[in-house]
Amino acid sequence: MKQGAFVSILIFVIAFGTISLNCGKGEAPMAPKQDEAKEFKFLVEQFADLAIGRFQIPGFENLPLQQKKLLYYLYQAALSGRDITWDQDYRHNLKIRRTLETIVKHYKGDRDSENFKKFMIYTKRVWFSSGIHHHYSADKIIPDFPKEYFSQLVKNSPDGLFPLAEGETVEDLIAQLTPLIFDPTIDAKRVNLDPTVDMVTHSANNFYKDVTQKEVEEFYKKTINKDDPTPISYGMNSRLEKKDGKLVENVWKVGGMYSKAIEQIVYWLEKAAGAAENDVQKNILELLIKFYQTGDLKTFDEYSIAWTKDTVSRIDAVNGFIETYGDPLGFRASYESVVSFRDEEATRRVEILGRNAQWFEDHSPIQDEYKRKEVKGVSGKVITVVGLGGVTSPNPPLGINLPNANWIRKVHGSKSVTLGNISEAYDKVSEKAGLVDEYAYSQEEIDLNNKYGALEDSLQTDMHEIIGHGSGQLKKGVATPKETLKNYSSIIEENRADLVAYYYFMDPKMVELGLIPSLDVGKVSYNAAIRNGFLQQLRRIKLGDNIEQSHMRGRQLTAKWAFELGKSENVIEKKIKNNKTYFVINDYQKLRAIFGKMLSEIQRIVSEGDYEAAKNLIETYGVKVDYQLHKEVLERFAKLGIAPYTGFICPVLEPVMKGDEIVDVKVEYPMDFTEQMLFYSEKYSFLPTKN
Ligand code: ZN
Repeated sequence: MKQGAFVSILIFVIAFGTISLNCGKGEAPMAPKQDEAKEFKFLVEQFADLAIGRFQIPGFENLPLQQKKLLYYLYQAALSGRDITWDQDYRHNLKIRRTLETIVKHYKGDRDSENFKKFMIYTKRVWFSSGIHHHYSADKIIPDFPKEYFSQLVKNSPDGLFPLAEGETVEDLIAQLTPLIFDPTIDAKRVNLDPTVDMVTHSANNFYKDVTQKEVEEFYKKTINKDDPTPISYGMNSRLEKKDGKLVENVWKVGGMYSKAIEQIVYWLEKAAGAAENDVQKNILELLIKFYQTGDLKTFDEYSIAWTKDTVSRIDAVNGFIETYGDPLGFRASYESVVSFRDEEATRRVEILGRNAQWFEDHSPIQDEYKRKEVKGVSGKVITVVGLGGVTSPNPPLGINLPNANWIRKVHGSKSVTLGNISEAYDKVSEKAGLVDEYAYSQEEIDLNNKYGALEDSLQTDMHEIIGHGSGQLKKGVATPKETLKNYSSIIEENRADLVAYYYFMDPKMVELGLIPSLDVGKVSYNAAIRNGFLQQLRRIKLGDNIEQSHMRGRQLTAKWAFELGKSENVIEKKIKNNKTYFVINDYQKLRAIFGKMLSEIQRIVSEGDYEAAKNLIETYGVKVDYQLHKEVLERFAKLGIAPYTGFICPVLEPVMKGDEIVDVKVEYPMDFTEQMLFYSEKYSFLPTKN
């Protein structure tokens, strides 16, 4: 998850009682514009397939000063790793970003032309995705303006401001970047999960250099000790590359790859450790710092265990190399950070789930030998997000469950969080109601969703994270799903967690525990699962493409497989009304039984590491899209005028200074996405263009 180091190049600029950090030369960062409107504006703008929204931090101003300071330091640490994500996603991303930003800031030509508008849309899409590949589909984003125009843009901006290498001219820059940006065949996919090709060489990410999939697999076959009950997360924090004919891990740490950004992270983590709420939290932050300084994965495990055990501190941060979706082989993790404080009220609901986790495990439809005899330390909470960094920005998840290491989860438990204020903002922005109205078959389905949709949504996330990811165990002697299920491991794991939630959503126990007022909430969940898996989510895919993204594959797998299993009894029915296709559930209890059957099989696949079964299920139900149906979904969606993806302009934390002392921290809510992206790039550009 993380790293960091010490930094001596910081220049503090103190003005008007606030402090801002300005690294190196050049202009001072622009002050973000404040929101002056009385009513909070959740949706700011839409372009291409993206909506840009904002989220609030309710309750921040009432926190004690010490907690505000701690949040501020962690927020700075989060943003300090921003460049790492860009570089991990593609080795040319930083150079391209800096070139685009130079044009945005300094282009001297006509800024009202159609082409310039198209250029701005392209640039904003690149910012949103932290690179030139789509954040969700992983396909290269191709600009709508001609390449000749790109060359004109560069030539009409001041030469000296471009990120030129030693001896490189502006002409060279244009010649290098034009094919990278415009040619759809070069580095076409950030991550390629097609099992029929070499997934390493066909993925454009920067996790491997000059190595083949076969070489990677052989390398880890030799390195990984299968009998180790407490294995480290091999390869998590490095690039695997060839040096003098030998494979070596180029480690992301202080003094290693990405050192400059990691030093900044460590600088802020050290301040955070000094402002910790208690000794437990101080120790956690110090372990994280040590990990960033040494790159030692044993230290990372120590950190993860300590972090998992801390359920007392109110302030929390995920910071490090966490998400393995970006690596087709699932070894290397992308940088991310989520800085938050606990929402005490909403956390009460989650605690009920956590307290009853053993009951859920005992009553699960999976085979007894794959149940955890003792569900340990499943702790869940609802958090209020203060800051985001890396892959969570500007497009955060709704829930997080960590740590990733299976043995730690089994021995020490895991921590699960729901991002409360983000969830709310997503709902406000995406005008969910409009979507449901379009794809739901009956008025009853729409009414139920209006009544219970918000509760169902957050509960679904809580159950997925707490009793879903937190459940089950591997058969003795079977390696981790990452090793056995390989490229299918993430999808199977997401599907497994979803199925646990679905199975229990229609259980009277949920009513008994006071989590839902009636099983109607479960109906809302089932309707959403089928509607989304068959129809709604296809809006996110280009016509003619198959599904690549893990969560989406998992959702379609759930819907299509359930349909198939219930076919003889017509449990789910395909209906046509006014030339529109719908999927309708005829019997909710029967569907519940089917979900139970599916869960049992998915758990068996995970527990036994049955690669062939995983492959067969996912390739049969999760990947392929019905062309005609897809076309219809897109046409219906286009009429609604809603962007499929949402991201956020993040709040800005500004300390109020009295001399050298922080006496308060204020939250500002900027209104302009472009300004925020330029502001981040001014303040947090720590890595060289080429790594
Ligand atoms: Zn999940």
